[in-house]
Amino acid sequence: MNNFSVDLTNCDKEPIHIPGKVQSHGFLLAIDKTNYSISYASENAETFIGTAVSNILDQPVASLTGFIKQQEPDFNLEDLLKLGMIRKSFDAISPLPVEINNKAYYLIINQSATNWLLEFEPLTLQYDIQSSIGRSASSMLQGKSVPALLKAGAAEVKRLIEYDRVMIYKFLEDGHGEVVAEEKEKHLEPFFGLHYPASDIPKQARELYKLNLTRLIADVNTIDAPILTFRENTPLDLTNSSLRAVSPIHIQYLKNMGVHSSFSISLISNGELWGLIACHNYSPKFIDYKAREGSKLIGEILSSALEFRQEEEDSEIVEGFKDTAIVLAEHLSRDQYLVDALTGHSTTILNATQGAGVAIIFENKLKTIGNTPEDKDIWELAEWLKNNSDESIYYTHRLSEIFNPAKMYKQVASGILVGSISKSPDEIIIWFKPEQISKVNWAGNPDKAAAPSEGLLQLSPRKSFEIWSQQVNNTSEKWLPEEITSVLRIREIVVAHINKKANEIRLLNEKLQTAYEELDTFSYTISHDLRTPLTSIKTYAELMLKNKSIDENGQKMLARILTGADKMNFLIKEILNLARVGRLEINFERVNMTSLINEVTSEVLTAYKADKAELILGQLPDVKGDKTMLAQVFTNLISNAVKYSSAAQKPRIEITATENNSEIVYAVKDNGIGIDNRYYDRVFELFKRMDNVKEIEGTGVGLAIVKRIVERHSGRVWFESKLNGGSTFYVAFKN
Ligand code: ADP
Repeated sequence: MNNFSVDLTNCDKEPIHIPGKVQSHGFLLAIDKTNYSISYASENAETFIGTAVSNILDQPVASLTGFIKQQEPDFNLEDLLKLGMIRKSFDAISPLPVEINNKAYYLIINQSATNWLLEFEPLTLQYDIQSSIGRSASSMLQGKSVPALLKAGAAEVKRLIEYDRVMIYKFLEDGHGEVVAEEKEKHLEPFFGLHYPASDIPKQARELYKLNLTRLIADVNTIDAPILTFRENTPLDLTNSSLRAVSPIHIQYLKNMGVHSSFSISLISNGELWGLIACHNYSPKFIDYKAREGSKLIGEILSSALEFRQEEEDSEIVEGFKDTAIVLAEHLSRDQYLVDALTGHSTTILNATQGAGVAIIFENKLKTIGNTPEDKDIWELAEWLKNNSDESIYYTHRLSEIFNPAKMYKQVASGILVGSISKSPDEIIIWFKPEQISKVNWAGNPDKAAAPSEGLLQLSPRKSFEIWSQQVNNTSEKWLPEEITSVLRIREIVVAHINKKANEIRLLNEKLQTAYEELDTFSYTISHDLRTPLTSIKTYAELMLKNKSIDENGQKMLARILTGADKMNFLIKEILNLARVGRLEINFERVNMTSLINEVTSEVLTAYKADKAELILGQLPDVKGDKTMLAQVFTNLISNAVKYSSAAQKPRIEITATENNSEIVYAVKDNGIGIDNRYYDRVFELFKRMDNVKEIEGTGVGLAIVKRIVERHSGRVWFESKLNGGSTFYVAFKN
């Protein structure tokens, strides 16, 4: 009756609700709702009632009265159906124990569009369901966590129906399944932890699992009974039938596994098919309606417990993320360094998601925790992110498909979730999730030979696992909305912290600026005001020197006063110079450096009487700047080079320049006494002089002036030096 032929490529389209057949351990009759006649009958009805189906088809339902008996003497099927009609349900009636040819059967009645489905199946008295269920429920609910609950659920179902293997199979977000609990006979190979592709349980089968909460295939090797009818072209909808024949593809699947009988119970959570309790027996096994209803009840208890526990666990995750944010905010407010606050305590940014590793790039430094790619790979990834995403948050669970180099480390980083933490695209936090397949740990041996890979024989749990493995290659588990929310929360906290710090620094800078200006004015005034009394000291000392009555000792003292006053005068001049740098407007112009340097060097060499010094000048490109200030910079640098190399056997001063797109860098190099590296930062400080220059004249103001001038030109100054190995001072100006 049903010519639809099924293979692996079309099993999604197989019309499994109208198979035109029923399993042959029971039989089916359909009664037309309009006229109470027998509209369909399964061919095997004959073996039960002892008359050919053709004799009863299209006959009134009353004609069955002789065949089907009940304890009640005036039992009549038509009345029963009418009663069901009035009540709009047969729940209170099914299953109805009846007798056919002196054998006990259950009659189960369901609706099917314009027909009633009457299914008769053997009644076995194997189970004392009522007392079992109570016990099962209480032992199941002892499981505190979801895995414990599932394990207990599987154990209870196994106890109740005594199948060889009871698995709990969970549907994950993309529709694929995983065996999350299993109870089995010891000698059987475990399937726990196996994953299956979504195609293993096609969509329409899932829909039926939602409608019919239990499903029995009593024996895969019996031949199904076709449904006969005179109503050609109107197949009977068996959605609500419990005898409904099974898709040949599914039968083959079970056969490939050596399974003879299968029973499943649907687990529904929040109206969706959460999973199945899948039971396999390795010999034929029939369980009657009451046992199936008992199992269904266990499934329902498990479903509602799951719903509750799952919600509890989900909210624990969310709470955990929130706690992490609170703890990290505290660390940020206490710790001096941001990265330490986020990574240095027992709660770290790793706890903000369920990722297995995290990297933070801040102020050009990289810090990682947990399972992450290597540093060089993270730098490369960060560079790619910078050019490919301008969002404050970015995530993918299939990185290597978008960014090829990530193939090399897909085991640890198939998923990334990135949050930027500052305005600079270089400052980010990246969470990593491993490739799913490398995470799966299952009991079977993946290298064991699979079933021959021809046609339907491809279907086996191991083959399915392989298909799934190929599907999920290169992907990580998806990032949950809760994880993304958590990262947004952390990001906000970090950004706010950085802004607060930046604001503090800005305020400090403003204060510093004011202090600088005050100091400038102060230095200027003081220096200026000091000059007048100093001039008096000098003038009077000189006058007194001319007085012949002063003895030799007195004359020496006066000479010292004069040298001291000269030194002081010089110092004041230098301080005035420094103060002036801060106060003067910069007069930008194109400065001819060849002539400037030539002038300066000749002045300096004369001043220090350094005629034996060798002077080498390279290319001296023009610079945009304030001519007087530039002259000051080079006077100071060249004076130092001359002064501090004067003791060398062959003093040698080299002035060169290099130019690139953004800068012109001048270098003033000497072969003098050099600078101890330990004091690197102090050289540019006001009045700071190194220990090795005591014998050489100086004030410690020159380089402070250089630094201020260069900074006012938005340039840079630095040096390289080695004690007794000469020094090179560099100044870079914007091109
Ligand atoms: P000073 O008047 O002492 O030269 P500067 O501010 O110009 O003051 O330099 C600060 C200190 O840096 C010097 O006292 C010296 O110790 C060191 N220094 C500067 N230039 C050189 C150099 N070319 N070689 C060795 N030491 C140097």
